[in-house]
Amino acid sequence: MTDITAPQHALALDAADPLSRLRDEFLIPAHDGADQAYFCGNSLGLQPRGARAHVEEVLDKWAAEAVEGHFTGSAQWMPYHELVREPLARVVGAQASEVVAMNTLTVNLHLMMVSFYRPTRERPAILIEAGAFPSDRHAVASQVAFHGFDPATDLIELEADEPNGTISMAALERAIAQHGPRLALVLWPGVQYRTGQAFDLKEVARLTHAAGAVAGFDLAHGVGNLELGLHDANADFAVWCHYKYMNSGPGAVAGCFVHERHASTERPRFAGWWGHEVTTRFRMGPQFSPTPGAEGWQLSNPPILGLAPLRASLELFDRVGLPALRERSRRLTGYLEQLIDARLHNVLHVVTPREPGRRGCQLSLRVHGGREHGRALFEHLAAHGVLGDWREPDVIRISPAPLYNSFGDILRFAQTVEAWRDGR
Ligand SMILES: *Cc1c(COP(=O)(O)O)cnc(C)c1O
Repeated sequence: MTDITAPQHALALDAADPLSRLRDEFLIPAHDGADQAYFCGNSLGLQPRGARAHVEEVLDKWAAEAVEGHFTGSAQWMPYHELVREPLARVVGAQASEVVAMNTLTVNLHLMMVSFYRPTRERPAILIEAGAFPSDRHAVASQVAFHGFDPATDLIELEADEPNGTISMAALERAIAQHGPRLALVLWPGVQYRTGQAFDLKEVARLTHAAGAVAGFDLAHGVGNLELGLHDANADFAVWCHYKYMNSGPGAVAGCFVHERHASTERPRFAGWWGHEVTTRFRMGPQFSPTPGAEGWQLSNPPILGLAPLRASLELFDRVGLPALRERSRRLTGYLEQLIDARLHNVLHVVTPREPGRRGCQLSLRVHGGREHGRALFEHLAAHGVLGDWREPDVIRISPAPLYNSFGDILRFAQTVEAWRDGR
């Protein structure tokens, strides 16, 4: 029988997978002279080695050409956002005209709600998951209030119905059936940040549309993690950030999807000059005529320095392709789960769904014995170069990122937890 906890086993798994070499494309923080075991890609992904060259290219162009940099050479700034459009569309499973890189996640969420959350007296409500990421909750509550409605009644938060705090599709279906006639918008996560639960976007959109509401998605934890198939899922809109699994740096320019069927929409929007028809933008006329597609929601000329690292990241996603990456991800996270079941079940409880189809790379792990115990383990891990992240009151999130984490990293996590348990 294979001993899955043997170092040779992890080494063999790493050696057998050609995608293991992608790790060399990243700068891995050091701990005591060796690589850290970094499991925080759900918070800030690591720096691709190629990022610096793209940033320096912009700085050099600025130094040498100044304003001319908008119009000269390759990677000129005027159409710079177009450089990321097609690779980004491939990552999220969309058509190129359906995606744009702009702003930051919460800003995009607000801009999308300006167009797609159009409450009426009969239909004022937004449905989200209870315990949503605070920024999303603030955004939807403030939109409800902005339109003169009351978040206390018109922001509906669906409570978890499964033992670990996850939400069954049946519960979502019941909620949509119950509130359907009052629902204007369902804003749903691709992957819930706290539990790591992944949802079937197509099914969420189908149920939402059947109730006559708009289906919007927050894919902060889904993008670069799962195959999203946004176009086929029939999402109306989606937003995401690029600093988590997309490895594009702190505060990176975010992403936004608007389904093709809304490309030439008459819906109201907040407009800015960069969303105006490309061909006539520089006539500087007073009338706004939007560019068809997601780019029509742009406000400003984009922060080129903020977009530059995204190019490096997308080159890596294009090199591998999401299906192969996802396959590796399933095996990495599956190995983590196996090790916990075999050796650590008296320390850690897996909160994330056990079915690989209902999760991405992240496992949320509740530490038995309460908060102080959990904090002690978390700090022990960090002190030994194993970095996860902490969610109050007692959860450690471990997210093996298939682009740079190894089977060896995962074994090291398990060994470090074991040493802490046995040393107490
Ligand atoms: C990371 C994250 C955010 C962060 O929003 P920013 O506008 O990028 O600061 C918002 N929502 C969710 C669900 C997230 O995971």
